[in-house]
Amino acid sequence: MSKILAANFKTNHTRASTRAYIEALDAHLDASGYKGETYIFPPATALDRFETKADIRIGAQNAYPTVKGSFTGEIGLEQLGEFGIGTILVGHSERRHILGESQAFIAQKYAWFKEQGFTIVYCIGEPLEVREAGDDAVRRYLVDQCEGIDTAYEKLILAYEPVWAIGTGRTATPELIEQTHAVIKRLSDRPLLYGGSVKPQNIADILAVPGCDGALIGTASWDVESMVSMLETA
Ligand code: 13P
Repeated sequence: MSKILAANFKTNHTRASTRAYIEALDAHLDASGYKGETYIFPPATALDRFETKADIRIGAQNAYPTVKGSFTGEIGLEQLGEFGIGTILVGHSERRHILGESQAFIAQKYAWFKEQGFTIVYCIGEPLEVREAGDDAVRRYLVDQCEGIDTAYEKLILAYEPVWAIGTGRTATPELIEQTHAVIKRLSDRPLLYGGSVKPQNIADILAVPGCDGALIGTASWDVESMVSMLETA
């Protein structure tokens, strides 16, 4: 099965550099005949309709569960709809831990975008202190992060992103990914990605983990050459 690779730009790239990136990526994927799914999550200001030859899907990193309304600083379905966006990241650890989103709000957002028929990339993952507390604590934490989430939703893609591995250069070992993915697979049989310091040097080992359906990549995806080299291994 071909793998799913997703690039989360976070707060990086402009409209111009996103367009140049997608054009370069499209040219590469088209020439190589890549058959896997590729998702790009640019910042909200760079969302657009991109005419691509390859199957490149553009998603929103975040949006508010509303069509429109008074939610200062947020965007809703009306803004996403202008660009035909039908994919969203929900539950990312930066939104949980930096922006303070609660599980209750995340579940509400998930349910709302599910209702709209969105493909949802739903992120879960434990912080370091939970990992250090042992396997049982990790399992309970991941189960709690699925509270209120319909894990059987047919347009759900899960991403296991241990917080201690995000942007730190510290990657989970293939053994640990396999072991934790097994826990998550008991909660959902939907495709499951790994994220956390994935880069050209380690992606082949990560994608080779049994039950790993792809990768959600931050830092190493921001440079298109680096993304292309990871897609070549997928
Ligand atoms: P890094 O690849 O920079 O660790 O980020 C992972 C991530 O948060 C993707 O959503």
